Amino acid sequence: KIENATLKAELGHASWKLFHTMMAKFPDKPTPDDSAALNTYIHLFARLYPCGDCARHFQKILKKFPPQVATRSTAAAWACHVHNEVNKRLKKPLFDCSNIGDFYDCGCAEDPEDKKK
Ligand code: FAD
Repeated sequence: KIENATLKAELGHASWKLFHTMMAKFPDKPTPDDSAALNTYIHLFARLYPCGDCARHFQKILKKFPPQVATRSTAAAWACHVHNEVNKRLKKPLFDCSNIGDFYDCGCAEDPEDKKK
């Protein structure tokens, strides 16, 4: 039982890292296709998330707070908000979303696209 909880937490920790880092790398000025892709990704992530109970709850959160995919900053702020919704449920400390800007770095500064930022 304890081991199950540890695995679930590890999966969550890794998944949130990827989730927020994707938002941090989403374009400032996305094309309509970029925004549609992120919206679809988020819905499929919520549907296919391997912990079924987590997936069910997260899908309810998405219904209440639909993904904000207009720009990088709205996407990052939205992701921080929905993660805080999960934190609330699990009685975890809330993250200060005004600090989200520099927190998630993919370490891909060598990527030429990144240097244009
Ligand atoms: P995590 O919540 O994993 O956070 C990792 C790090 O992200 C934190 O240390 C902090 O630096 C940062 N962070 C924290 N809050 C935010 C925020 N709001 N915005 C940006 N960064 C932040 N577990 C369950 O037991 N039951 C569930 O129903 C459940 N549902 C989940 C649904 C989803 C979609 C996901 C991805 C995970 C879910 N989890 C669930 C796992 C849970 O959210 C945690 O990932 C897990 O408990 C490990 O917690 P943690 O303390 O490592 O911090």
